Amino acid sequence: MAHWQRTRSCGELRAEDAGRQVTLNGWVHSVRSHGDLVFVDLRDRTGIVQLRADAASSPDVLEALAAVKSEFVLSVTGEVQMRAPGMANPKLGTGEIEIHVSEVRILNPCRQPLPFQLNDESQMSLVNEELRLRYRYLDLRRPRMQEILRLRHRVVASMRRFLDSRGFIEVETPIFTRSTPEGARDYLVPYRLSPGLFYALPQSPQQYKQLLMVAGVERYYQIARCFRDEAQRADRQPEFTQLDLEMSFVTQEDVLQLTEDMTIAVLRECSNKRLGSVPFARLTYDDAMLRYGTDKPDLRYGLEIADISEAMRGTSFGVFSDVLASGGVIRCVRYPGGSRLSRRETDDLARLAKEWGARGLAHLAIEDSDGSGHGLTLRGPIAKFISETERERILSAAKAEAGDLLLIVADAADVAATVLGRLRQEIARRLNLAPSDVLHFCWITDFPLVQWNAEENRWDAEHHPFTMPHEDDLPYLDTDPARVRAQCYDIVCNGVEWGSGSIRICRADIQAKVFALLGLSEEVQRERFGHMLDAFAYGAPPHGGVAPGIDRLIMLMTDTENIREVMAFPKIGGGTDPLMGAPSTVDEAQLRELGLRVVSS
Ligand code: ASP
Repeated sequence: MAHWQRTRSCGELRAEDAGRQVTLNGWVHSVRSHGDLVFVDLRDRTGIVQLRADAASSPDVLEALAAVKSEFVLSVTGEVQMRAPGMANPKLGTGEIEIHVSEVRILNPCRQPLPFQLNDESQMSLVNEELRLRYRYLDLRRPRMQEILRLRHRVVASMRRFLDSRGFIEVETPIFTRSTPEGARDYLVPYRLSPGLFYALPQSPQQYKQLLMVAGVERYYQIARCFRDEAQRADRQPEFTQLDLEMSFVTQEDVLQLTEDMTIAVLRECSNKRLGSVPFARLTYDDAMLRYGTDKPDLRYGLEIADISEAMRGTSFGVFSDVLASGGVIRCVRYPGGSRLSRRETDDLARLAKEWGARGLAHLAIEDSDGSGHGLTLRGPIAKFISETERERILSAAKAEAGDLLLIVADAADVAATVLGRLRQEIARRLNLAPSDVLHFCWITDFPLVQWNAEENRWDAEHHPFTMPHEDDLPYLDTDPARVRAQCYDIVCNGVEWGSGSIRICRADIQAKVFALLGLSEEVQRERFGHMLDAFAYGAPPHGGVAPGIDRLIMLMTDTENIREVMAFPKIGGGTDPLMGAPSTVDEAQLRELGLRVVSS
């Protein structure tokens, strides 16, 4: 061991170590110089410890330490000592002790002014993100970022352990492949040996994992990178990581149970957050849309949407009766305590509802006029149209209480769902109803197999084209595709879609039928997916799987809203990397070799 190498790590030193000689390596986090006394915080991957030197005992060391700057790389030798009484720092694991330094070696200075300070978290939100990413190697030195990288590692390690214990093996699948549709554009890589041919980067390992099931692997997983060229959002990146898994000889129930067991094991090991419900709640897609207005409900709070269409069937209020007559619905959500809202505030909610697509937003304040808690009354512009029977039915359907404001949307079912779902979230946000220390997982099942794409006049797969329809619904593939439910499921946490999966089609005839429904001619089916249809002809086992997102889980665990915060080297803006300068132009010669020419638009 070289003389400068550490004997201990900074963050692990405690009062028990007082009196020990140690050598530490790390970065200068901060320097506090008081003339004849200097303190330096030294940081390594385990944490921060305070170094100390004074003029009386070691003038040379004092001089050396006073001269170092933030982010110098040091080796120091010294003795662990208790801090003076009253000087302990309870916020630091090492806060009771400090190092009385006897020797300082500068392993490497930091020669450039820092683009931003690494030792003041409170200022980080002011730092331009592009700058942080250009100097990501500095940004990642911050304890907060180190914590996230470490947590991410622990979560993945825990998943691997769990899956290993259940007989899964990790198999790597190719990155250079051909298109595997998951609803986004492909990233293409030109093939040099035959200009005009391209590889596509996988949007997911979907086809390979199914082929692994045909290959008899039975239990596969992979910490898989997926590449999707789609509009960037705070929770999306062009490349991201999924825990991709697939199992043979299973039903939907088996996949849900295994995923649930794994999630619970991983979170119990790696997180202090509470789980909202164990076993995880389950909702069908239709139920989720009806009760929460979304297929990604946040179940940390109630505020279920109530359908009052039946209660209002004979209404004398023209707007409502017209909507019902044209096949629409009347639904409402409670705003607890909302009866006190001012006119301006209710107008503001109505403005939001219109922005989200509603024709209007009606409201009824619930009042307990005689203070008895019985005989609740309704107040609001439409109250006069509501009969006593209707009032009773509305109150009971909405489970309304005195002080509530009922926000009512009368519209087509999908519009009512979307608008009330968003209002529900808005109310929860305003009333702070979602506890941040809870992870509330739920399964959404029975999605429709296909969705009508009005723009392109065709059916699109709701999940992906390999999803198995419900056996009972197979006949509707020919007659009423919208009615076909899929053996497909999403796992949702706190209003965020964490992963999707399905039982797969394993029969060539059903697969061909679904491809045909999605508008793929026989020729295109052969050309694009012939290998899948062929594989199914050789004895494909029933199989299914799921792929929860690793990045999203870390976001949920760390209360982070920006996916870039949980990735080591993310892309910014439209998908650029300011650190490496990617994407970049390439030499003419390279283009020529690939048979490519850039056509400026
Ligand atoms: N490949 C799917 C996805 O990326 C997941 C799955 O069906 O297993 O969403």
